[in-house]
Amino acid sequence: MTSQLPGRPPEQGASEACVPPLISVICDGCGADKADVLAEIDADYEYLGVIEDAYALRRFRYVGCRECGLIYQNPRPSDQEIFHYYPDVYGCFAQCPPPGRMMGLLYKVMVWLKRRELMPLLPDDGVLLDFGCGNGHWLQAFKPHIKPTQRLVGVDPCQKPIDQLREFGVEAYVGDEHNIGEVVGEQSVDLILLNHVIEHVPDPRRLLRRLRSVLKPGGRILGVTPNVAAWDRKLFGKYWAGWHAPRHFILFDESSLRRYASDAGLELVDCRYEFEGANHWSVSAHSWLAQKLGWRASPGRYRMALYPLLLLPALPVTLVQKLFSKPSVMSFELRKPDADSQVEHGVPGRRPDNP
Ligand SMILES: [Zn+2]
Repeated sequence: MTSQLPGRPPEQGASEACVPPLISVICDGCGADKADVLAEIDADYEYLGVIEDAYALRRFRYVGCRECGLIYQNPRPSDQEIFHYYPDVYGCFAQCPPPGRMMGLLYKVMVWLKRRELMPLLPDDGVLLDFGCGNGHWLQAFKPHIKPTQRLVGVDPCQKPIDQLREFGVEAYVGDEHNIGEVVGEQSVDLILLNHVIEHVPDPRRLLRRLRSVLKPGGRILGVTPNVAAWDRKLFGKYWAGWHAPRHFILFDESSLRRYASDAGLELVDCRYEFEGANHWSVSAHSWLAQKLGWRASPGRYRMALYPLLLLPALPVTLVQKLFSKPSVMSFELRKPDADSQVEHGVPGRRPDNP
């Protein structure tokens, strides 16, 4: 614990001058530049104490486009700057299974459920790509259960988790949407996992187009992303975990996701609202508490001390929310048409992506 509170100026020695300014952007949905401010966030609440104060104690802003309603971060970090917000202990790189009996048990249940859901979808000679795999915990969990003719591939832009995944015997590559075709081969993949990725990339439309190009005709993308239409966003305001500022660039609801999928030549065939929304309740409540009490995470260690305790009440709350509304984490299924169309998909008035 420390007297340094989020939102206050950085301590002496943390040089703001060396931190590049955030860059302004226009709406990625329609190109308009008129938007209303939805949240002003005065710190990276989750990783304050883990990453440098000069980066953690900045102000981030999320806006809603007046023309198309898209919710996005403006301004936002540049491609170079954003890497400062992904420390070695970042969630998807962290120890797995997580420490602690309760978290370990929850993890085992999640893996079992995920395996039951996904493995039947993979053909006997099928290829499953986990794009943005992080530490590749799903791939590690699935590997002992696949057939010799099936193939699991992990791709992530960070070298370290890829090296660790290879040590575990999983096929894994450093890559992103720019080189994914060279890494796995065009039209070669049956099933793509896209867990908490689409909201992290500066150009989700380009990402979906590139993933479409590596899918076989009829192939599927199964993804997870925050649901920005959930009412706990309004309840928690700037503390809402779905912002995850400044890592989330564009946030989706079912409607905007359908639009982006269609632009990329994919069909949104299913959208479900997950119990993982309980994670958002816990993190949001923790961020609020941390701000009020001046807590910081320990350098080199994440995650927050009270998270498992907060998760207990969050589970029944999410159940009630699921019964009467839509929790703040949604899973989606996108499908590539069986007969691959040669039509170029895009938004009128926008230039096509660079290859
Ligand atoms: Zn717009």
